[in-house]
Amino acid sequence: RLFLDNGTRTNHSSNSNSVLALSTGDPTMFEPFWRKMEDKCKVVIRGGDFMSYFSDVKNVCWFLEPKLGDAIRRLHGVVGNAVTEERHIVVGTGSSQLFQALLYALTTPGGAEPVSVVSSAPYYSQYPEVIDCLRSRLYKWEGDAHSFKKEGPYIEVVNSPNNPEGGLREAVVKNQGDQGMLIHDLAYYWPQYTAITSAADYDIMLFTCSKCTGHAGSRIGWALVKDKDIAKKMIQYITISSIGVSKESQFRAAKIIGVICDGCENVQSTETDNFFKYSRHLMTKRWQKLREVLQHNRYLSLFKYPRQHCLFIGESVETLPAYAWLKCEEGIKDCEEFLRGIETVGRGGKQFGADPKFARVSLLCREDDFNRFIERLYMGHQGESNGH
Ligand code: PMP
Repeated sequence: RLFLDNGTRTNHSSNSNSVLALSTGDPTMFEPFWRKMEDKCKVVIRGGDFMSYFSDVKNVCWFLEPKLGDAIRRLHGVVGNAVTEERHIVVGTGSSQLFQALLYALTTPGGAEPVSVVSSAPYYSQYPEVIDCLRSRLYKWEGDAHSFKKEGPYIEVVNSPNNPEGGLREAVVKNQGDQGMLIHDLAYYWPQYTAITSAADYDIMLFTCSKCTGHAGSRIGWALVKDKDIAKKMIQYITISSIGVSKESQFRAAKIIGVICDGCENVQSTETDNFFKYSRHLMTKRWQKLREVLQHNRYLSLFKYPRQHCLFIGESVETLPAYAWLKCEEGIKDCEEFLRGIETVGRGGKQFGADPKFARVSLLCREDDFNRFIERLYMGHQGESNGH
């Protein structure tokens, strides 16, 4: 059993009658692929390995394992989703730590007023939580970027594709001169979720293994940072917060990323050894099932996304978000509550700065849980139409 974000307890892997916990984006759907890889992904760590705090004293990011740095550059080269030339790589304990490091790096030494931080709604619910947590005098959460009008320095977090609603995004705050700083959180900018429309070329970009390979438990994220001074300040924060990042995790992440790249570079690769082919296929099947079951449901609806040309796949593809951003119809005001009625825990729209008639449900769960969710959507609808 584990605790959910809202403090309730639930079964980790649900049996057929229990409450379905789909409020977090735990990426367990990719487990079967990696289980089949078996020894290909095996790493051996001996007693005397990785004992030092340091990885590469010549690098700005002295705690980055060179093998991981190389693997990250190779991965972006293979996928074509981000420019790594003239960028510093800063590794973090998940991109969550890097986000905090960036808040620090972009706002120190600090002025009279805290720097405003905004993101266009619906925004990832962790942004306000992280920013408000320590009541910092350096920065302050100011909510939806669309309605932000204040003068002075600000940070806009651009999350593309967006968590929760799945679409590609651009910065929205206008007419702020050179006072604005942008953080591009590209956690989901991978071919299983979206078309790769160009190699992202922003000054500050965040990525994470959690949503790319599915290895959330390794807690490895990375930032691609153009400005050396910003990178240095991030490194200063990570030094204060955790004196670097686990070498064992970095070593494993480098191995996993290498296996992904090998699979992509092999022209004869299939869904069994090409991770993105596999994961895209799985996401396609899930979205088909979800759209099909909701076709017959007048209480819940979903966005439609345009097809876009994907440079990685070489053809026009569907958008397959990691989450279902569900909207209640027929005057139902609270989608989270509606979902609770079918024994499913989602995360309500309010936490994302949106109307409570929306809720987010993770589609990255294990196959059994996903199928149970589809069943519950179907049965819920049946119950209603039978007058229950
Ligand atoms: N950004 C976004 C948009 C996310 O959805 C997540 C994970 N849910 C993260 C960042 C953080 O990922 P992690 O700390 O696991 O790298």
